[in-house]
Amino acid sequence: MAENGEEDKPFKELGVCDQLVEACESLGWKTASKIQAEAIPHALEGKDIIGLAQTGSGKTGAFAIPILQALIDAPQAFFACVLSPTRELAIQISQQFEALGAGIGVKCAALVGGLDQVQQSIMLGKRPHILVATPGRLLDHLSNTKGFSLRTLKYLVLDEADRLLNEDFEKALDEILNNTPRERRTYLFSATMTKKVRKLQRACLRNPVKIEAASKYSTVDTLKQQYRFIPAKYKDCYLVYVLTEMSGSTSMVFTRTCDATRLLALMLRNLGLRAIPISGQMSQGKRLGALNQFKAGESNILICTDVASRGLDIPSVDVVINYDIPTNSKDYIHRVGRTARAGRSGVAISLVNQYELQWYLQIEKLIGKKLPDYPAPEEEVLLFLDRVTEAKRISITKIKETGGKKKRRGDDEDGIDGYLDRKHGKSSKKPKRK
Ligand code: AMP
Repeated sequence: MAENGEEDKPFKELGVCDQLVEACESLGWKTASKIQAEAIPHALEGKDIIGLAQTGSGKTGAFAIPILQALIDAPQAFFACVLSPTRELAIQISQQFEALGAGIGVKCAALVGGLDQVQQSIMLGKRPHILVATPGRLLDHLSNTKGFSLRTLKYLVLDEADRLLNEDFEKALDEILNNTPRERRTYLFSATMTKKVRKLQRACLRNPVKIEAASKYSTVDTLKQQYRFIPAKYKDCYLVYVLTEMSGSTSMVFTRTCDATRLLALMLRNLGLRAIPISGQMSQGKRLGALNQFKAGESNILICTDVASRGLDIPSVDVVINYDIPTNSKDYIHRVGRTARAGRSGVAISLVNQYELQWYLQIEKLIGKKLPDYPAPEEEVLLFLDRVTEAKRISITKIKETGGKKKRRGDDEDGIDGYLDRKHGKSSKKPKRK
């Protein structure tokens, strides 16, 4: 995958062994991404690595390939451990290890919260080569799973280190580091270099090679960014207009709150659009289910909070819509990074209302450019108004009803999706303009 005009490098030229070159080819990876081309040769020389790179840069391959190559040379159980801030990312990383290591029989275990701990202990009993874990759950297993330790570990990867530290895993990380041998290779990947990351780097890396895959807050050239200034009261109408204009594409719609993801998804489905919510409020099973439904193309609109804006590996999102403008400008970069990945083109549209202007201006300052207006003639947008208002009213009533029932039953997210599917069917109809 060529990035930003970088010359394409075949994996073989980086010193990757034939078995793994074949594995990359079977995944459709013909040439190395920038972070891979820069990190892999140093990693194969046995150096510690700090990689400044985001999801979408190919960073998983950048650490997985050298680890698997070392594993082929000296196979052993509990060879490497990757720490990830979120369950979804951990599962994706372990899937990439499995895909790359399929030909060499690599055994991986994902140790994440929200899934059955006993089953995970059984997996550990099978002595996997690679562990991918969230810090809390790894610590649980280190304390409670008999016979499990990281004493023989050769490689430790701290992925999305800035987020690992944001999410209060600091204490857990310390303990995990105390439980791993000093004689190990360490790779630290982070989207941003914060004070805490620098401190972590000093504490656990030795003479690392520093690699930067993208300049600090840039967005890629293949990304078309636009904004639309709109009155707050018509925001839903504009969203429906944009989604209808973009029908046939895959979209991620970002909202500020978990509740908004549910309400919007319900409203859009009431209008016949194939939307599905994902947020931190949902159970782990529901989150994975929603993600799989989106990946499989059953839904083409994913409504999410910033929890979903980083880490998740969703291969082809055509459009990112900022339904709510992020108050933290860096979240904008992470959100729009969900599209225009790996050389593809993508569109990002921000719907800015009168209360969000200050945050939007901060974003323009951060990315260093003024964005063009997204053309949406108001008279056309407002043709949706009656249907959108009615769909929203029905959705609010439904959420109140289901919320009440759920409280009595003690469920989490169940009910709403099923209710909608039963009531409206999984329709892919576009909402008709009046
Ligand atoms: P990551 O940044 O590791 O989450 O990877 C983002 C996406 O890029 C994943 O879907 C990978 O399968 C894909 N990918 C990683 N490396 C390559 C490559 N060298 N060529 C093409 N696609 C790649």
